[in-house]
Amino acid sequence: MMKLLVFLILIFDQLLTVSCAKKLHECTLFIQDYSPGDPELVCECNDPTKQNKRLVSIQGAPDKLWEMFDDGEIQSSVDVLIAKGATCDDKTFIIPNEKKVTIYQPPPDTAGKLPTVGTRDVLVLRVSARTGDRITNTPTHSRDKLINDIFGDGKVSLRNQFNLCSIGQLEMAPVESSDVSDGVYDVTVDVVSDNKRMDYANDAIAAAGAILGSLESYHHVMVCLPPDLSYSDVSGSWIAFAPVNGYKSIYNDEWCHYVSASMHEIGHNLNLAHSMEGFDEYGDNSGMVCVQYALYHIPILSVCDQLKIHIALSLSVAYV
Ligand SMILES: [Zn+2]
Repeated sequence: MMKLLVFLILIFDQLLTVSCAKKLHECTLFIQDYSPGDPELVCECNDPTKQNKRLVSIQGAPDKLWEMFDDGEIQSSVDVLIAKGATCDDKTFIIPNEKKVTIYQPPPDTAGKLPTVGTRDVLVLRVSARTGDRITNTPTHSRDKLINDIFGDGKVSLRNQFNLCSIGQLEMAPVESSDVSDGVYDVTVDVVSDNKRMDYANDAIAAAGAILGSLESYHHVMVCLPPDLSYSDVSGSWIAFAPVNGYKSIYNDEWCHYVSASMHEIGHNLNLAHSMEGFDEYGDNSGMVCVQYALYHIPILSVCDQLKIHIALSLSVAYV
């Protein structure tokens, strides 16, 4: 009798394991846009038991998925990849059999619409890094400067410029809570030798989430990574990246302070694409979500066209 009971418990345990694993066989697709760099298709595993889901690489997908991505047929944060037997760890969504993959695309009229007016709360993660017990990487600039450059009044700040560009219709408000003041929260991540930028951003969001709970309820989470970290996916300098139609944007140290960079990346969060001229995605230099050298040289107040048009039309699709 006892043996039978143990057997039944083992079988039940096995069934539970199978049914839990099944929950991980799908993930939501995101187009992640890098400045500078080519866009990448990543995904967020749909594990209902987890908060602050990580954006991870996709391994073993069929050519069809990459063709759809190249052809602009993927709706970021909307389309879902379903793969039988797939698993998801902290860095990768692994598909064991590319023949057993479905790409689910909801009808376009239910997808990709984000409000471009109203108040949107912004949480800024100011990240330091440690090796062992020692803090080895800290942000170049002070917390006060960061608050000023993002939320400051009476100067060129992210908040001010979105306000001006939207003719007072779009307010980027700092998160205020018992744990967060002035919208900025300090976190520390561990230096890991093969980490990519995306992994450090995921780690920072997880570290903040361990104290603050789910960050997914905020409209925008800006992750300001410290300088001099080594990244396995980049050599030399980089500026920032963000998933289109997502809530995260990730910056290389001082670029968190440049309004042109933060407006560009948060523009991607708002589902704005690069404006096009001919076949060159970076050909039109007139808008904020356009071109990298504009980040340095174009006067801030002259580059709000996309946002104005989007607000005027109450649309959130690519501006051509
Ligand atoms: Zn971009």
